[in-house]
Amino acid sequence: MTKPEEVLKYCPKCGSSRFHFEGERSFLCDKCGFHFFINSSAAVAALIENEKGELMLTVRAFNPNKGMLDLPGGFVDPNESVENAIKREIKEELNLDVESLTYLKSFPNEYVFSGYSVFTSDLGFHCKVSGWDKLHIKDDISDIVFVTKENIDWNLICADSIKNIIKFYWNQS
Ligand SMILES: [Zn+2]
Repeated sequence: MTKPEEVLKYCPKCGSSRFHFEGERSFLCDKCGFHFFINSSAAVAALIENEKGELMLTVRAFNPNKGMLDLPGGFVDPNESVENAIKREIKEELNLDVESLTYLKSFPNEYVFSGYSVFTSDLGFHCKVSGWDKLHIKDDISDIVFVTKENIDWNLICADSIKNIIKFYWNQS
């Protein structure tokens, strides 16, 4: 009971209860005519390796999936470029500067937050950082770990989309 059509009951514009699910992914208000669409939000995930070629994963400090492993990244803000989002998130979470980035592949994700299904398009980027001296773990992560193909525990990765991005990266590199 977390899908938008099961949760959203009133028009977000006029408050009317004559707000109904049109099917597929939109709602229509019979009172004010507001047409509301459910879209997927863009989110970025960074693949960053240390000097030994190990992949950096972050430990999530908050729910959803508190304590589980993730790639650094987050949502793209309204009116922000995807490229800026990845640079901003790496700076916010790790205090590191992205020197170069290469787009890899995207995977869809769906998770439940506040009893509501959230849909994202998780965009994977290979990133190089200018150095590790300024590394400072903050914001919405509590720690980082470095993993390899041999020792990664897939059960600790927070989402299938993130697993898929990592697998794609390792299969093509
Ligand atoms: Zn309305």
